[in-house]
Amino acid sequence: MKKYDFLRKGAPRPSAGQLSDTKLFYRNCGLIYARFDDWKDIDRFYFIPLWLEMYYSCGWAMEMAPDPVWLGSFVRCSLEHPELFRYACPGCGRPVLPFRYTGSPLSGHVILEGNCACGWRGFESVSGWAVRATALRDRLAADSPRQAAVCERTAATSAGPAADRHRPATASTVRELLAWLGANR
Ligand SMILES: [Zn+2]
Repeated sequence: MKKYDFLRKGAPRPSAGQLSDTKLFYRNCGLIYARFDDWKDIDRFYFIPLWLEMYYSCGWAMEMAPDPVWLGSFVRCSLEHPELFRYACPGCGRPVLPFRYTGSPLSGHVILEGNCACGWRGFESVSGWAVRATALRDRLAADSPRQAAVCERTAATSAGPAADRHRPATASTVRELLAWLGANR
């Protein structure tokens, strides 16, 4: 028995705004990885939803993880498993961390897509689809109690007349995270 079911029908589709916010992560992933320690404990940033299109489509979605994937979980997973997600830049040899991975459970191959500080942008194709998908799903599962607690607090503070005084800690956006990082250098 496989630990996770990677097959799902009727996957949700992101809005144009959600897609463009995810593309901001693609363009700025180097900064977001580098400053992980600064934002990882802030729930509204950790649980920013990313739409990474990590599926192989043939009517069914065959996903490494169901979209959306939390930004914090994705970044933490890549950092905690360098043997799975880090590769050497073909341009300069520096380590690159991917901003998304695609591929197919049928071929077993994964495409790790990333940017390097030297300006190189591209991808690395590796084998080991299932081990990477499992690592990401394990990370999402480990983070889900924290996310549930955030949702509980949000529900508690948004009910009743005190709602305006206690803004719920809802998820932010990549755009807001980048602005916050710029202001907190
Ligand atoms: Zn490079």
